[in-house]
Amino acid sequence: MLKRSHYLIADIESCVLCTAQEEETIDHLIFNCPFSQACWDKIGISYNSNISRIEATIRAKEIYSGRLFIEIFTITTWNIWKERNNFIFNQINPTYNAWLERTKADLSWLRYKVSTDLSDYITSLVNNL
Ligand SMILES: [Zn+2]
Repeated sequence: MLKRSHYLIADIESCVLCTAQEEETIDHLIFNCPFSQACWDKIGISYNSNISRIEATIRAKEIYSGRLFIEIFTITTWNIWKERNNFIFNQINPTYNAWLERTKADLSWLRYKVSTDLSDYITSLVNNL
């Protein structure tokens, strides 16, 4: 959006999560970047970015074997975005471990918003990440 508005954004045009020098598009940053793919692999969500985002999300939900798909999908995406922003705004290099720890912490908070059986499920999920 900044680029389309002709802002000078040369420093942030390339993805900061990988060394591939890929343009930072939503599809690359969140789904296709090797960094993000490692995150999705860890969380167990498969995302086919060759189809529309909505269709890919629906398919990912259909084949996801766990519970709380949207919550886990959102937390995973949010923490990939936060790794990117930590570099852009705080000059902190993105790391898989930082993403993982933040994701586990956010999932742990989710336990307080759900029923007991889902809380137990989240505890098990976090312990196995
Ligand atoms: Zn990348």
